[in-house]
Amino acid sequence: MAVLGEHHPAFEEYCECIFELAEDDVDVIQARIAERLNVSRPAVSEMMRRLEAEGLIATDSGIQLTDAGLALGTKIVRRHRLAERFLTDVLQLSWAEAHHEAGKWEHVMSQSVETAMDRLLGNPTTCPHGNPIPGSAYIEPDSVRLADIAVGDGFTVQRITEELEFTPGLLEFLEASALQPGNAGVITAASPDGTVTVEIDGHHVGVGAFASARILVSA
Ligand SMILES: [Zn+2]
Repeated sequence: MAVLGEHHPAFEEYCECIFELAEDDVDVIQARIAERLNVSRPAVSEMMRRLEAEGLIATDSGIQLTDAGLALGTKIVRRHRLAERFLTDVLQLSWAEAHHEAGKWEHVMSQSVETAMDRLLGNPTTCPHGNPIPGSAYIEPDSVRLADIAVGDGFTVQRITEELEFTPGLLEFLEASALQPGNAGVITAASPDGTVTVEIDGHHVGVGAFASARILVSA
């Protein structure tokens, strides 16, 4: 039972999901929410009614977070990304494990733990995948999609967008391939369908079109 000032974990999960879909410019529609949360369409439409009754979303023009919903989504995303940073930087867990664990920690972290974690980590501005921590001093860098870099040109990885964090197996692949924020590489081949081959940190890796359109880099 939720106490005053706390929300049902499902409400938190949905507000986080809507926040992150909008952040990645993905259409916030029930089908995308169902995919992201791995739940049925009827479950999503039932939850939309509950979120609206709670005053967390408005549905007059598409699905939008209200001020209260945005505050809740922002808090959960912040705790998720701070927890990921702690789980990778301090506990040395893999990217995929950290993402999975942070999905649980985000719901149980108190304000005092959040503040202490932020201090311990030195006020980080992004999660290990390069996604901004809300409320941090993050400044959005100039970036382009990996798919837009020409063959022969170099790039530095900036951000693995949240959509890719939810693609099964992809975080494991990117970590094993050294395609991580801060690492520099070169495009060695590109095909018209958007697949690129990169050389990075001694690895030669093929990156499919879905991922190459969602990895942000600096040229
Ligand atoms: Zn992340």
